[in-house]
Amino acid sequence: MVGVLLLLGGLIFLAFTKAEWHRPTATLVDQRDTLGANGTIDVRVHDVGTGLKRSRIELESEGIRTVLLSEEYPADTWRRSTTFETTLSVPLGGGEHKIAEGPATIRVYAEDYSWLRWFRSRQPLLEHTLRIDLTPPNLEVLSREHYVNQGGADLVLYRTAEDATRSGVTIGDYFFPGTPGLFTDATIRVAFFAVPHDVGRNATARVVAEDEAGNLRALSLHATVKQKHFPTKTLRLSTGFLERKVPEILAANGLPAEPDLVKGYLYINRTMRRANELRIREVTRQSVPRPLWTASFLRQPNAAPSSGFGDHRSYVHDGEEIDTQTHLGFDLASVRRAEVTAVNTGKIVLAAPLGIYGNAVIIDHGLGIFSLYGHLSAIKVEVDQDVTRGEIVGHTGETGLAGGDHLHFSIMLYGIHINPVEWWDARWVDTHVTSRLASYPRADALVNDADRELEALDADREATPPGNDAGEDAPRS
Ligand SMILES: [Zn+2]
Repeated sequence: MVGVLLLLGGLIFLAFTKAEWHRPTATLVDQRDTLGANGTIDVRVHDVGTGLKRSRIELESEGIRTVLLSEEYPADTWRRSTTFETTLSVPLGGGEHKIAEGPATIRVYAEDYSWLRWFRSRQPLLEHTLRIDLTPPNLEVLSREHYVNQGGADLVLYRTAEDATRSGVTIGDYFFPGTPGLFTDATIRVAFFAVPHDVGRNATARVVAEDEAGNLRALSLHATVKQKHFPTKTLRLSTGFLERKVPEILAANGLPAEPDLVKGYLYINRTMRRANELRIREVTRQSVPRPLWTASFLRQPNAAPSSGFGDHRSYVHDGEEIDTQTHLGFDLASVRRAEVTAVNTGKIVLAAPLGIYGNAVIIDHGLGIFSLYGHLSAIKVEVDQDVTRGEIVGHTGETGLAGGDHLHFSIMLYGIHINPVEWWDARWVDTHVTSRLASYPRADALVNDADRELEALDADREATPPGNDAGEDAPRS
């Protein structure tokens, strides 16, 4: 009797441990609809109870099933596996598997150590359909002869597939996005790119295009970079200046007072400066996808530059260098409270205090080109306002990190400071920008013409007495 009970108890124990009913589960880490040559299929496989015995990922395309990956997991004891959870990762490319482009189905199978596995269905644990796309977008550079000054910019025209989701120019760690839709030929895109002052000598500019599946094509851009020597300038910080500016800037930015003036100054010149640049990147991330500028860029009238673009600044206090920074703009001084005018037509994207820049204005001129005006005593514009070339945006002052009344001016490409001297040079703008943009028929010109024709047609209709058919032959004014 005792023996029977023991046997029965043993069987129940076995049934619970070795005949557990939990089937393994599988989930896709990334639910993608398209998969490219650089893509990976990542699946998390999990089992409670006895644990995993084997797993397999299959891909079916054009009726052919390919096993992409299969794994076996050894038993730990008679009761269970060594593995309860694992992530399977299969790179699609690499030439190991011949996979056709087009629709495909991923299926994931797994078994555990339960005795019930012999009775379970052969259905996959997971099935996901997607599209395999292994071909990177077409790419062709249309513009030639790119001569770029270090710290300056240039414009490139290229042709790529309309389904390219991301394209533009890379150099070093920088990426400058291209803009579609400017030309009647929808495959042509335009991108400004810069050779930022801190990009290494050997960095190569590349035009890149990537599709939704992550397939990337890159062509090196034939650009001749003219190295520039950036001079070093010493800025002497008097105790009077620190006493006046440090508390003022900290208070203006809602920060607590710092009794140690040098410490407060270094916080402003380093941490606040970095934060301000991040904020600039943020407000310049989106740009109007067409040029808003007209003619050349204006230079602040009667203003003498006191500091140039890319100057290495050495900050000296009490005979000791306490900091170094790069000056990424132009300081222009004329008279106190001088009128500050928009260098060109555009849209205001920032009109507010901005840390070291004091009261600042940023204008979007389109295609990633922005201008910045700092240290203003007064701001005369608002965000989202359209301004025209020469319109007053504010008055010079010495708000922020400024030792005297002047304008800090900067031209930026998506928030990266570039040398404004090029933009003040009408001949440079003509050869590098205007003439290149004129080499293909423009889509906005077409839209404007169509608009004008429609307006003319409407005007004709209003002018025509009822009953008279205003057809195609109606005269236009
Ligand atoms: Zn400055």
